[in-house]
Parts: sequence; C-alpha cells; structure tokens
Amino acid sequence: MTVNVSHTAEIQHLFKEAAGFNNDQGNPRVKAIMLRLINDVATLIEDLEITDNEFWFAVDYLNRLGGRNEAGLLVPGLGLEHFLDVLQDAKDAQAGLSGGTPRTIEGPLYVAGAPIGEGEVRMDDGSELDHATVMFLEGVVRDSEGRAVAGAVVDVWHANTHGSYSYFDTRQTPYNLRRRIVTDAKGQYRARSIVPSGYGCSPDGPTQECLNMLGRHGQRPAHIHFFISAPGHRHLTTQINLSGEEYLWDDFAYATREGLVGDITFVEDPAVARERGVQGERFAELKFDFQLQKTPRVEAEQRSQRPRAMQDG
Ligand code: FE
Repeated sequence: MTVNVSHTAEIQHLFKEAAGFNNDQGNPRVKAIMLRLINDVATLIEDLEITDNEFWFAVDYLNRLGGRNEAGLLVPGLGLEHFLDVLQDAKDAQAGLSGGTPRTIEGPLYVAGAPIGEGEVRMDDGSELDHATVMFLEGVVRDSEGRAVAGAVVDVWHANTHGSYSYFDTRQTPYNLRRRIVTDAKGQYRARSIVPSGYGCSPDGPTQECLNMLGRHGQRPAHIHFFISAPGHRHLTTQINLSGEEYLWDDFAYATREGLVGDITFVEDPAVARERGVQGERFAELKFDFQLQKTPRVEAEQRSQRPRAMQDG
C-alpha cells in the first residue's frame, strides 16, 4: 500500500504557502505553475515510491546538468522539444493554419548575430579543407502560393566535420559555419560550405548519463539548422537532416521529420570541381526549398524569445 499525504489539508496548505499563494507579491502565473509543479513532484514521489536516495540523486543530477549547460540538450533527448512542435502543429490545425515546410526543433546551439550576406555566402573559414568535402547548398524561399520571396533572411548554422559548433567549440573561429543569407530577387539563397558530420552528446556529460540509464544512444544524423523569416510570413524554425545518414530515423533528439530530409549528392568530376573553385575532384550538392506560411500578425514573424548565445557576450 502506498502512503499518500500530499492531498491532506496540512500539505496542501504548505504547498500553497510555498508557491506564494498567501501573499500578494510576485508573479501570479509563476505561482500557478509552481503550485502545480510542486504537487506533481509530490504525487510522483508517492506513486512511484521514490526513495530518499533516488530523490537526492535527482537533485544532484539537476545541479550537474546545469553545471555542464546541458538542460537544453536533455530536453530534446527526452522528446519534449519535439512534443512542443507536435503541440504547435495541432494548435495550427485547430486554427486552420497549414501548409509550408514543417517546423522542427531548434536545439541549443544557435548563436545570434552571424554575418549577413546578399544572395550568396561562404560559410566555412577554410580551416578544414584538407579533409572536409565542400558543399554547395542552395534553394528558393517561397510563399504559400509558391511565389518566390525576395529579401527573406535564411539564418543557417551547422556543425563541422567533427560534429561541433563554433562558439561552443572554442577552437573554431567566431561564426564559422554560421551565416545569414538574404534571398535575391528570385527568392534564392546560396552557400558554399563543408559537409557537416553528425554528432553525439558528450560521453561524460549528464545527458548521456541519463540516456545510458534509459538504454539509449545520444547520436544525431548530420543536419543543417535554419531560421527563415520574411515580412508578412510566419517565422520558421527547422532543419534538414541529410539522406544516407546512419541515425537519420534514429535521432536521439527526434528532429527528423517527413519533408525535412535533404538529398545530398556527391559529384566526382575534376573539371566541374575546378569550374566551381573546388580543390580536388569531389564536392557535394544539396538543394532545399522552403515554403513559408502567410501571417498578418507581426509577432508571428519573430522567433521565440528563448534565451540564446551571442558571440562576444
Ligand atoms: Fe545541431
């Protein structure tokens, strides 16, 4: 028989006091959320008969998770970031909003303020050219009627050949593999970059520690992140996951979705390579078009206000 005291008047009074219900200061929204959270944790402890050792392990785990700045990594790992996308899709469907490129998770590795270029940019700093494969990435941004959107901002970021991201990997130059591209009159964006590698959670980090206890790996397929925005259109957060990747449909972060697989092709032709300014004979091409939803709401043109990294503070 489980012992249950969380619903007694005494404990309910305590939790309401702890959540600030007996004062008129503070933030009512936070108070409501905190009361629910405290109650849910208490019910969880009772229902699953959480031991003291398990409870204090979890408290220590949260400290370690924050200490390694991995809360934003555990969230997609537990499916919660994908859940938010599915929830938003359902809200959209209810509001009659549909169509366009699917959204998918942002992940924790965006850095604001990347260099901006018109139409065509170079994304890599050249430091990996002795072993990386050059990638030509291009596509068109369209509106809900299929017309080209000129002046859209394609904010793109991806990992290097070691699966790590500039800023978080301090060995890389600032904003390496991060750019914003303004689409040209035909709605086109073009980038020369390098083929990214997939990556995994740090083997010694708290996210992987949790995944180990769940019997799961912490790997992602190679992918490229995008924010796409344009006046009159709904902000789009998405990513394309590369075809032929081992973890394409076995992504620990659950980001791969139908409609978001990028068909990367490898070209081996010294003459064409030379024409395109590539050393050696092999390079990759990836074409991906985006379609945005219209919106009359200016707020919908903006990305969420999630706190994000910024180069140089
Ligand atoms: Fe990523």
